[in-house]
Amino acid sequence: MSKHNMLNRRIKISGNLIFETAFHIGSGKEGELAAKMGILREADGRPILPGSTLKGNFRAFAERLSEYLGFTACLMDSSLSEKNCVSDENFRKTVVDEKSQKTVEKEFQALKTEDEKITWLSNNTCDICRLFGSPLQSSRIFFSDGTLTRWGQRIQIRDGVCIDRDTETARPGAKYDFEVVPAEAVFEVTIELENPNDRELPLIAAVLAEWESGFRLGGFTSRGLGRVKLTDKKVESVDYTDFDQLKSYLLTKQMAEAGSLLEDSLESMLRVEGESKHA
Ligand SMILES: [Zn+2]
Repeated sequence: MSKHNMLNRRIKISGNLIFETAFHIGSGKEGELAAKMGILREADGRPILPGSTLKGNFRAFAERLSEYLGFTACLMDSSLSEKNCVSDENFRKTVVDEKSQKTVEKEFQALKTEDEKITWLSNNTCDICRLFGSPLQSSRIFFSDGTLTRWGQRIQIRDGVCIDRDTETARPGAKYDFEVVPAEAVFEVTIELENPNDRELPLIAAVLAEWESGFRLGGFTSRGLGRVKLTDKKVESVDYTDFDQLKSYLLTKQMAEAGSLLEDSLESMLRVEGESKHA
């Protein structure tokens, strides 16, 4: 196995996501309660908070914050950036048309050694894709599905009216309804990071700060839905190069408390940035 694939550090972040309002994470199908737009639910009816939804939101925050923290992001839209990460040397213009994308992928596939591939990726892809993944590289950040720990035990139906964009009045007969999970649902979530570098830790810390001050998830956020907050954040880590930590982790599955590791990394990055701005 190449040295680049070795696991040298794993960080686990856990906490509770508390919904302050009702939320709607759509299933793309009709709901069981005859609502036009159903929510994602388990077979037993409990609502689901998919890890992919959490990852998409986290990545979008990382992209929006990247410029202030000196990171490169290829595109603002995560669904696009995953497909089109390859950028030019100053990371500002992105290869977007399919033909050049194919050429670039061929160029990458033609590389023989792991070292060549690593160098190529670090020269040609953005910081965000290197952490969150792209078709050329696997992700090093993993989001569990939320574990539901508290909720109102029932789904509500909301009514909506289709508004005509031109006249700004309700279109006659154009009513729709959708399911929501009532306010105060709580999910436990876990985020795991593999081999984060010292530049990535501050970025993760910054996005977590946004999550802790509150954000919106799911559909109908313009109608006030999906307001959620991260609480009870806990950070643990295991350093595989520290024999005592590794032994304790492998034998007991206990990671070491990492306290304010993330906040400290953000603080020192901001201090360095601030000094360079005022110099
Ligand atoms: Zn990218």
